[in-house]
This record gives sequence, structure tokens and C-alpha cells, in this order.
Amino acid sequence: MTRPFEKLLPRMEELRDLQAVINLMTWDQETYLPKKAEPARAAQLSTLQGLYHERLTDPALADLLASAADEDDADRRAMVRALAWERDRAVKLPQALVRELAQTQSQAISAWKQAREQRSFAVFAGPLGRLLRIRREQADAYGHGGERYDALLEGFEPGMRVARLSPVLKALAQGLVPLVKALKAAPAPPDVLQGKRFPFDGQWRFSLRLLADMGFDLEAGRQDRSVHPFTGGLHACDVRLTNRVDEENPLSSIYGAIHEGGHGLYEQGFHPAHHRTPLAAAPSMGLHESQSRLWENLVGRSAGFWRHYFPLLRAEFPDALGDVSERAFYRTVNRVSPSLIRVEADEVTYNLHIILRFELELLLLRDALPLEDLPRAWDDRMEALLGVRPPHDGVGVLQDIHWAWGELGYFPTYSLGNLYAASLFKAAARELPTLDADLARGALLPLRDWLREKVHAQGYRYSAEELVTRVTGRGLTTTDFIDYLRGKYAEAYGLPL
Ligand code: ZN
Repeated sequence: MTRPFEKLLPRMEELRDLQAVINLMTWDQETYLPKKAEPARAAQLSTLQGLYHERLTDPALADLLASAADEDDADRRAMVRALAWERDRAVKLPQALVRELAQTQSQAISAWKQAREQRSFAVFAGPLGRLLRIRREQADAYGHGGERYDALLEGFEPGMRVARLSPVLKALAQGLVPLVKALKAAPAPPDVLQGKRFPFDGQWRFSLRLLADMGFDLEAGRQDRSVHPFTGGLHACDVRLTNRVDEENPLSSIYGAIHEGGHGLYEQGFHPAHHRTPLAAAPSMGLHESQSRLWENLVGRSAGFWRHYFPLLRAEFPDALGDVSERAFYRTVNRVSPSLIRVEADEVTYNLHIILRFELELLLLRDALPLEDLPRAWDDRMEALLGVRPPHDGVGVLQDIHWAWGELGYFPTYSLGNLYAASLFKAAARELPTLDADLARGALLPLRDWLREKVHAQGYRYSAEELVTRVTGRGLTTTDFIDYLRGKYAEAYGLPL
């Protein structure tokens, strides 16, 4: 007799293959798709997504999952649990609500664009109100214990709850606000890259070199160009990174490559026994982001890293960097300055942008903040947290596209990524005594191998916080991140912090 899991496995593989095709077509849409093919591609994607939904919600799959739930093997049980979780959420969401959301999204996006042009939130308020109503209904459909935000957060950060997250983000703000104030009062390091030119070819070559040194396998992945960098994971042997080049600012392509490379290493590092199963996945968006942030900030903005790579970068751009010192370059990549725009924020101020959004989203979903008061609430919080006040809504409440998509609950994953990254890096430094020396000679593989064993190859065996606890000895905390910032910026700015 065939055991239930043997019947379930081909279903799991089929779903993963469908997802891979969807990811491939999305990657293609953002990179090479001819302009006239856009409507056809949208239709193809919609068809495939419909097919995926149909296969996922098939009642026969529910029976197979139920009968395989008590497998002896722990990995198999984890596969069943992960797929059952995904199926359960898909089944609970009424299709009418999905359709209504899609329609409202497209209205909201065009209203948001118009509102940004006119720098006036009022134009966007109506569609945003409708999106919020739909999201509240969705949260209720998923089910929650009284906090709607939990039901949406669960989709990005399974297991995380507002009751756990809120005090952590509050503590984070308490640690960051005085730090930002102190750094703001100090003279900012000069930007030694301003007014220089960095030709495309050199930047592309350098970014590929960084990826290769990080241990990103370019025979199991690629780097291509897109407007916004992203990582598309089709399979551990086919990971698509994208990047962009700004000839006036080489940091855009350098940190684009390192950040997406961090995501890419995660995707390439899943255990071969988990390929084409639900275990070949990160347990949360926050943990995925921890890998990109760890490489981007804790490695890629460290003094040791640039001891090795600055001479190589200067050799690539002798005209622009000939008279720039390694120290001046290091201080340039670590300039801190409170600004209005999240996507341009440095690693110290970034989380304050997230905390502001989290607090407002929570109030909106609780129906505790009238929409007409939202721009004012945004500006007031901005001033309290970062000490800057937007001159108009275009650089304030209207700056992100997320809310125009009706995407709520996603922003905190960025901060979780930063916090997990600092804790994981600290554990790596403890277990790899030569880590600093390795980074300073461009030996990045020992760190990649450690992350592969401790994080990537674990896939979706555990929840994000459970995995971090297993690796670091404790769960979500702000201490490691704040300690890291204090130590680094006290040295870089010559301040007692
Ligand atoms: Zn990322």
C-alpha cells in the first residue's frame, strides 16, 4: 500500500514547479519582456496563479495532508505543516474578496500616483479607505484573537504577533532616538564620491566579483538589470538576482549586489533533500531579510571588508578614487543623517521609518485613526522619531507604494531582518574566531558556510524566532543591534555613544 506521504510528495513538487514558473515569468517581466508583451504576460500570470490556487485548494489535497500529518520523519511532518498552513490561509480567503482587492488595488495605485503629483493625500484617501475595509475583512476571514494586524502579519512572519513585536519595536525606538540625536549633532563625514563618475562596465564587473567572492554560485544563478533590484528564487539551482547601476553613485550597484546576494545565498543554500518541497523556503520574510542585511551592513559596511575591497575598487576606478583614502571611503559608506525618505535611509535611522509605519498601520487596522488625520499623524511621528518634518505629503505619507497595494503588515519584516542579522552575526563572530581577519582579507566563504549550515540548510523546519534562538541562544532582541551600532559609530564618528 502506498503511504500517504508518497502520494502527497508529487503534489508538493507540482506546486513548487508552478510557483517556479510564476517566479520565472515575473523575473522576465521585470528584466527582458518586450514592451508590447505586457498585457499578454499579465494574462499568462493571472492564468497560472489561478491554476496554482485551484491545485492548492483542491479538497483532495486536504485529505492527503490530514492523513500524512503523523509521519514519523520530522522533516516530512514539517513539510506537511508548512503546506497545510499555506492551504489553510488560501481556503479561508473568499474569492470575492480577492477579486475586490485586485480591482481596488488598481484604482488605488492610480489615485496614489495622482496624489503624489499633486502632493495631496486627500486624492488617495478614498481608495485607501476601501483597501483598509477589505483588509479588515480579510483579517477577520483568516481569524485572529482580537488583533486584526496579527492575521495580516502572519502572512509574512508566521508565528509573530503584535503583543510580541510592539514592545520590541518600542525598545528599539528608545535605543535609536538618542543615538540619532547624538550623530546628528556631530559633523557629518564628507561624501567623497560626490561629483565623480563610475562607468557602467567597471561597476558591473565589480558587483559580479563581490557575488562570486560571497560564494554566490553564478552557475546556479544570474545577475541581470532591472529598475528595482530584487531576488527571484525558482529553485536552489536557479536564483535570479537583479541590480541597477547609477554612474554617479557606485554604492547603488555595490550594495544592490551585496543585499540581493545575501538573499540569493539563502535561496541557493536550501538542503538538497528539501528541493521542490515546502521546506526549501525561509520561515519568514524577516529572516530572509536578515541574510541580505547581514551581508549588506554588518559585512559590507565594515572597516575590515573595505580594507580588502577598497584597493580593488580604486583599481577599477582610478580616476574617481585615486585621491580618496580607504578611511574616507569607509566613513562615506557609513554617513548617518535623518531624512524624510525611507528607501534612502542609513542603517541607524532606517528602523525609525519602519516603527512609524508599524504604529500607524496598527491604528488604521484597529479603526482608531480617522483617515483625514493620517498625514498629520505621520508628520508628527516623523518629527518625534527623526527630528524632521515633511514639507508636503509627497515626501511624507505618500512616499511608499505599499499602502497603495493595500499591503499592511509587511513593513515590520524589515526591522526584524535588521535585528536578527545583528544577533546572527554576533553568534557567527563567537563561533568563528578568525571572522574579522577573514573579512579583512576578502575570505567571505567561512561566513557563508556557517550561515549555510545554521540558517539556509534548515529551510522551513522551524519558525524564524525558533531558528534564531537555536543558533544564537536567545530569540528576538534589540540588544545586539543597538550594541553593534553604538560600537561602530562611536569609532567612525569619534564620539562617546
Ligand atoms: Zn531585501
